[in-house]
Amino acid sequence: MSIRPVPSTTTIRDFNEFWATLRQMLPQLPVVPSPKNVAPAPQVSPLEEALQLSLQNIMEPARVACDAQTLQRYSTQYLYTGAEIPTSNMAAPAAITFPNSEQEIAQLLTWAEERELRILPWGGGGAPYQHKHPDATPYIVVDLRYLNRILEISPQHRWVRTQAGVTWTSLEESLAEHNLTTGQCSPWTTATVGGAVASHSISAKALHYGDLTRNLLAIKALCPAGPIRLSPHPGATDDRLLMLGAFGECGIITETTLRLHPAPQEQLNLVATRSSMGEALTALEILRSANVKFAAARIINTREHSLFSNPTSSSIRQLLRNLIGSTTTEFQLLLNLEGTREEVNSIRRQIEELLREKPLQLAGGDAHLCEPDYAHEALLLQQLREQRVLAHPLTAPVPWHNAAPFLRDWEEALHSILLTTGGHPGKTLTTLWATEDYANLRTLLLGFQPAGADSEPRSQIQDIQAVALAIKQRWHVEEPPTALVSHALSRAGEFLDPNSVMLRG
Ligand SMILES: Cc1cc2nc3c(=O)[nH]c(=O)nc-3n(C[C@H](O)[C@H](O)[C@H](O)COP(=O)(O)OP(=O)(O)OC[C@H]3O[C@@H](n4cnc5c(N)ncnc54)[C@H](O)[C@@H]3O)c2cc1C
Repeated sequence: MSIRPVPSTTTIRDFNEFWATLRQMLPQLPVVPSPKNVAPAPQVSPLEEALQLSLQNIMEPARVACDAQTLQRYSTQYLYTGAEIPTSNMAAPAAITFPNSEQEIAQLLTWAEERELRILPWGGGGAPYQHKHPDATPYIVVDLRYLNRILEISPQHRWVRTQAGVTWTSLEESLAEHNLTTGQCSPWTTATVGGAVASHSISAKALHYGDLTRNLLAIKALCPAGPIRLSPHPGATDDRLLMLGAFGECGIITETTLRLHPAPQEQLNLVATRSSMGEALTALEILRSANVKFAAARIINTREHSLFSNPTSSSIRQLLRNLIGSTTTEFQLLLNLEGTREEVNSIRRQIEELLREKPLQLAGGDAHLCEPDYAHEALLLQQLREQRVLAHPLTAPVPWHNAAPFLRDWEEALHSILLTTGGHPGKTLTTLWATEDYANLRTLLLGFQPAGADSEPRSQIQDIQAVALAIKQRWHVEEPPTALVSHALSRAGEFLDPNSVMLRG
């Protein structure tokens, strides 16, 4: 079905309508979801017993789980964070393995290949099913949480070698003892180094430290065809792309070597408040065109911030009441400055002059400058869904020159589709963070599910995604990889994984 955005004459301009409708509905909301709204537990088909026993011969039995509860926890349905929604219901894995050595992984790959089973690498579980296609063949999750050793730190040569299952949080804690940093900020507290490399995740502080292309010195991976080591060589094709951003399609990353930077002497967070996203974007554009050297820049919506910043609020009714009670939405441009004290002070003066705002407000800590705690947010979104509120995030990396018109088009179209599919006006909460080439937008949609819809409004979400895709295509956002790149990657896949053991996209 092709969905066209409703013409702009029907655009909802009164954003408060959503809150008014929600207020009317609030007294009718159940305190706990009614059983019919609770999604049924996903069906699981564990490995047959003979295969389980054979698997336990190559790995310690404690490193293999095939019980229904564990399999369900790793299924798409349980995991659904909103960042990904599989094209159709994908079967739950048939087994979960927890290897703690490369040898175990190598044995597992051979074992799976001989039995025509698929392998799905698993880092922190932020978005493990993104770009994976359903397939009838049973698959086994390889959870890398025990490959979590920092192998070597060289303060003198400024690099660190780690296993792939190390989380960014623990890596940064260890490096802080040496006054060093990778400069990579993770969007998810459980996010692993291997997961970020496999999905080519871009750090919020990439403006200052560069992205993984600049900071990843070497990758070691185990492929079904054997182990490989990848590192960039000047003038040669960058073979790291076989693993960097390949979503583990050709093998499992086991080790990475990352560049290190001196930890900043001074950090400062400034806040400039504006009444609309457009105004906040204009302020950011003034700073960007003057080439101001901030480490990270983010525009947040205070409404979204208030929705997710209080991890102690456990009652969804209370949460909704708080939201309805708050009046205006403000947009905050958050700027993170890093460097020596002199550098930070001079950048601060430059920003204050350019924005003609002196002194700019200071924000404490830098946690919310990197990323909000998405794990906590995912939990709250799930609670909202159980109350039949549509709560769905969308993302779009928009080239800077198109950022303002894209944003207007995007929000108008999303408001229209929320109204058409949900029968009542909805709300969009957009945040933005800056990379060198892109304004990365993340829009949380809050709206109503169609009357009589199932607990999971899949078709409504698919309609919304179709509209989002149409807008992205109109503004040339997220161009699909060129035919040449796809061809090159699939040829490499044939060589590194000739029998398609790895679960593909
Ligand atoms: C709500 C939300 C917000 C997000 N926001 C951002 C954002 O702002 N910026 C951004 O860049 N990303 C974002 N992401 C994507 C996600 O956070 C990143 O992909 C993250 O780095 C994944 O790390 P992980 O360790 O959780 O990996 P997982 O989610 O477990 O895995 C991610 C992918 O990598 C593969 N993989 C994992 N480990 C390995 C390995 N060792 N070897 C081979 N393949 C492997 C998996 O098969 C999967 O394809 C977001 C995700 C969510 C759910």
